[in-house]
Amino acid sequence: MLATLRRIIEAVDKAPTLDAALSVLVRDVRLAIGADVCSVYLTDQERREHVLMATDGLPAGAVGRVRIALHRGLIGRTAERADIINLDDATTHPSYLAVTGNGEEPLHAFLGVPIIQHRKVLGVLVLRQRAPRRFADDEVTFVVTLAVQLAAAIAIARTTGELADLQSGPRLPTRYLKGIAAAPGVGTGTAYVVYPPADLDAVPDKPVTDPDAEIVAFRAAVGGVAKDIAGLAERLADALRGEDQALFEAWRLMLESETFVAETIARIRAGNWAQGALRDTVAELLAEFDRIDDPYLRERGADVRDLGCQVLLRLQRGAPMRTAFPAQTLLVGDEISAMQLAAVPRDSLAGIVSRRGSASSHVAILARGMGVPAALGVLELPVSRLEGRPMIVDGYRGRVYMQPSAAVVTEYRRLAEEERAFSAELETLRHLPAETIDGFTLPLYLNTGLVLEQRPLGMDESAGVGLYRTELPFMVRDRFPGEETQLRDYRRVLETFAPRPVTLRTLDVGGDKQLPYFPVAESNPFLGWRGIRITRDHPEIFMTQVRAMLRAAIGLDNMQLLLPMITSVDELDDALTLIQRACDELAHEGHAVRLPPVGVMVEVPAAVYQADLLARRVSFLSVGTNDLTQYLLAVDRNNARVAALYDEFHPALLRALLQVVEGARAHGREVSICGELAGDPRATPILLGMGVHSLSMGAGSLLRVKGVLRSISRARAKEVLGRALLCESGACVHRLAMALLEEIGLGSLVRPGR
Ligand code: PEP
Ligand code: MG
Repeated sequence: MLATLRRIIEAVDKAPTLDAALSVLVRDVRLAIGADVCSVYLTDQERREHVLMATDGLPAGAVGRVRIALHRGLIGRTAERADIINLDDATTHPSYLAVTGNGEEPLHAFLGVPIIQHRKVLGVLVLRQRAPRRFADDEVTFVVTLAVQLAAAIAIARTTGELADLQSGPRLPTRYLKGIAAAPGVGTGTAYVVYPPADLDAVPDKPVTDPDAEIVAFRAAVGGVAKDIAGLAERLADALRGEDQALFEAWRLMLESETFVAETIARIRAGNWAQGALRDTVAELLAEFDRIDDPYLRERGADVRDLGCQVLLRLQRGAPMRTAFPAQTLLVGDEISAMQLAAVPRDSLAGIVSRRGSASSHVAILARGMGVPAALGVLELPVSRLEGRPMIVDGYRGRVYMQPSAAVVTEYRRLAEEERAFSAELETLRHLPAETIDGFTLPLYLNTGLVLEQRPLGMDESAGVGLYRTELPFMVRDRFPGEETQLRDYRRVLETFAPRPVTLRTLDVGGDKQLPYFPVAESNPFLGWRGIRITRDHPEIFMTQVRAMLRAAIGLDNMQLLLPMITSVDELDDALTLIQRACDELAHEGHAVRLPPVGVMVEVPAAVYQADLLARRVSFLSVGTNDLTQYLLAVDRNNARVAALYDEFHPALLRALLQVVEGARAHGREVSICGELAGDPRATPILLGMGVHSLSMGAGSLLRVKGVLRSISRARAKEVLGRALLCESGACVHRLAMALLEEIGLGSLVRPGR
């Protein structure tokens, strides 16, 4: 039953429309349970009735016509109670209502399962049987599981407006999908779906413009894979036994089979592009394999999937690099990588929307840095159905509109206009000092490094680089870059900013930043082998990087070095020893290197409690509030489900920051904040009040934060901090911070001007 369940869920998930999904579902569920009828009713709250939307067993003409008043019959009762009703003889129940009323032999057995999403009943899934019988427990749980799946599909169809069409009722007012507000701003444009390479499940539908060209590409890809297989068979000819050799022949036959080739071509002719057609063919073949009882043969399904992926890879690699992005591209995907983001010309990029991720994911950080609106963690985003659709992303509120009504479009145009005016106002702050009204300067630094830009955004505006993440130069290559390569990268940043200081952070991979050539598979990567833990275990990687950094700074002397993820003094002592060794070695080799100021990132709670001990050993501390928040609150920074719990204004975080400042002060060291909190204008007064020495942020935040700084005094900031420290909840701190911004006339810095 589990296999059947999975097959139905997959088929429902892949169905191009809700209508198609319902048809598949009623047919397959009826067959799987051996019932006489399976139907789906959807609840139309406006008309106060349940509408028959799909059936297998009742006359087809009843669909759309059978409408049951909201609280009538067993359907109404199931919905009203929001609970399962399982009766062996429904006809004797007081709520019984003959549905089609066509005088046929009555259906006795009844199973009604409510379809619920977010505690709201969307409809009822019903099974009927002529003979009286009680549906067994495992049949009931089977139907309940499917009802849960169906709820998600229905919710999506409602949002996209598809359901309104199906019910031929009045169009629902424009709805939107809710995600996380990850980068402020509003973007209007056309969806451009991206997906990870060679992942069949992630391939979206795209209408085909030139079917013949797609077919040629598909045939070429199949031919290529067939050649690969032949080559492999030849290479392994001696090593494999005869029966194992037969496997290659089986693969070839499968690949060139009528089902594989002809059906994919038929799907291309029917209007889908080659990759989408291939995905559907493979899914159908897999479903067939799933139905086979023989476990060995069933396993061969894995080969089909594998072959499908190989053909897909060839299609993707063989396809010319698509450079034709829509003029106003809204980048849409299950998950969007920094590389995919970087591939879109900045002028064409209007916004980012993804199913995964949250405000503190690296792609969000990048989006804010680039000033591109983003809504991430939009869990219900129907990625595969969005290509080419007009959409609006509201990065202030984390909303995505897929069928924006004219009124919504007008409203957002107005907002965009206000935003432009506001940006122009912010522009007037450029080149003015980052100082409070009582003349205190709080240097604002730039976070950069995720992109290898020639001239990073915000470059002129910043006091230097407060955090250069060195991961990207590692990510874009196919192996660990050597000393000379790294030297060139670092030298460029140091020269670009000289004489302003640049803080280079040593490699912080692991967690959500994986190197393609250094895969680390862990069930809990954020608590795993990450940052300094990796480089401590691989001194050769650390030494190469530090040597490159030290050499890059020769003659410029504007470099500081920062160590990520420090959790104990031992780690720090080891790292400091290696840095000293690298310096000595280089000096010995004749390089005029100098030991730079070294700092520690405070981003693990243990480092907060030992801030004084760490500060004693180094020149400065830099607080990474992104990780510190996730570790302090036990909330994964990338998990959309718990994103609402990820709160950088949590009183525990404020207390932690204060403790870090005090620990550093005990040894006369400076503290910088370089997590996203530093770029949040609401936090500026609080951080200023704490006495931090500098803030480091993405380019998009520099002017906003400066705007706040130039509107308050230090005394006022201290007073606000005092009140914030009395708060017992993050919401209280938020309110205080927001009230202050409103008071100084800068509320529009963090919310759309309205
Ligand atoms: C942080 O954790 O706050 C930080 C600045 O580092 P990253 O976001 O690169 O993990
Ligand atoms: Mg971090």
